[in-house]
Amino acid sequence: MALRGLDPHDPSVSALRPPLMACEHCAAIHREVILQPNETAACGRCGALLQRYSRLTPHDWLALTLAALVVFLIANAFPVASVAVQGQVRSATLGQAVILAWQTGHPLVAALCGLVAIVLPGLQILLLLHILVYLCLRRTSVDLISSLRLLGWIRPWSMVPVFVLAVLVALVKLAGLASVELQPGMAGFAILTILITMLGRLTPRLLWRLAERERLVAVYQPAPRPGQALTACHACGQVQPLPGGGHRRCLRCQAALHWRKPDWLARSWALLLTAAILYLPANLLPIMVIDSPLLGNSQHTILGGVIELARLGSWDLALIVFIASFVVPLGKMLALACLLLATQWRWRGNLAARGQLYRVVEFVGQWSMLDVFVVLLLTALAHFSGLMTIEAGVAAGAFGMVVVLTMLSAMAFDPRVGWDYAQPAPLSDPSSPPASSCRDRNRSPGTER
Ligand SMILES: [Zn+2]
Ligand SMILES: [Zn+2]
Repeated sequence: MALRGLDPHDPSVSALRPPLMACEHCAAIHREVILQPNETAACGRCGALLQRYSRLTPHDWLALTLAALVVFLIANAFPVASVAVQGQVRSATLGQAVILAWQTGHPLVAALCGLVAIVLPGLQILLLLHILVYLCLRRTSVDLISSLRLLGWIRPWSMVPVFVLAVLVALVKLAGLASVELQPGMAGFAILTILITMLGRLTPRLLWRLAERERLVAVYQPAPRPGQALTACHACGQVQPLPGGGHRRCLRCQAALHWRKPDWLARSWALLLTAAILYLPANLLPIMVIDSPLLGNSQHTILGGVIELARLGSWDLALIVFIASFVVPLGKMLALACLLLATQWRWRGNLAARGQLYRVVEFVGQWSMLDVFVVLLLTALAHFSGLMTIEAGVAAGAFGMVVVLTMLSAMAFDPRVGWDYAQPAPLSDPSSPPASSCRDRNRSPGTER
């Protein structure tokens, strides 16, 4: 099969040597290594995980993805739970809950939940299927690269596991007011969570690597001129010299090429400060309004909801909601502010620890969406005219935006800049020995395949 974009007569291109890769956290350049079972390769400069051994072939991944697609359809076709109050029974699928939130005048909550729990997870599975079919058939196409790039964009926004936890929290909250029962949709989402967590190992970087090995995308071996620095494409990871001039595009995937993320400081601060401002109404205003002739009208803030869960005896869930809805967003904003200040003021200390903190901030990002999902579910399930209705409060939309803005702020931040200030620019000569290291086994880095 033809190797896309690869010219064998070009002296700067060679498929015989392992390709170069750059650490996303400190910009050090490494040469890819072939891992043995249970091995992982970490960056010798900052300690970030670069490669992890996977015994699964593209065919195995395809089977898992097909299973995820079937379970995704089942999970969305059936109600997640049913609630009964005085003979009235109500059940709702996730899609119906989103539509109801929209109809009751909460388009922001509906749009956010619909996107991160239905549209983007579905798109993620379809894109994976599309890419894996090409990998299994060992064929390339024009849209393979576009699909790989798109998958990289949407992957952090797929939040099925958070939704499953939210269903449990919502049902515990309703259990005190009505009789609740789990429905097949919930089993579907629980299995989908396991499958999506397994598919989480199939990162866009790993897919690019699999496509390289199958010779479906080009692998350029860069030959920088003296003084010319190497950088990696943020979309496909291809290491290449950074050309002069304004219009810089990746050799392989045509994504815009930057030395560091453009305007990272201003963008990250602007997003973080907007999130911090919205954090106030998100916590001070009611996230949920209960209207019931029997229980009276009541408004609940995020912390009020935590206290209520504890009062119902669910200390474990109260703790989870408290951590996910209060500690995580606040801690995340403080951590981001510290990282931004440390980099802005060119502090050279604790770079490895700062890198770890940034990775934690990235990891916990989506879990704060928990309370927004809980409100969405309560709105859909506890809607009994004349007996009890629960509606989303103003804080639900504000809180959803806090989650989105802090995630965007973390994405805009460039942890490589801190390393630039502290140490000389990373290796720019690919013939020099790279600095990769293996955690579980001593291996000379840059081993030829
Ligand atoms: Zn690194
Ligand atoms: Zn690229």
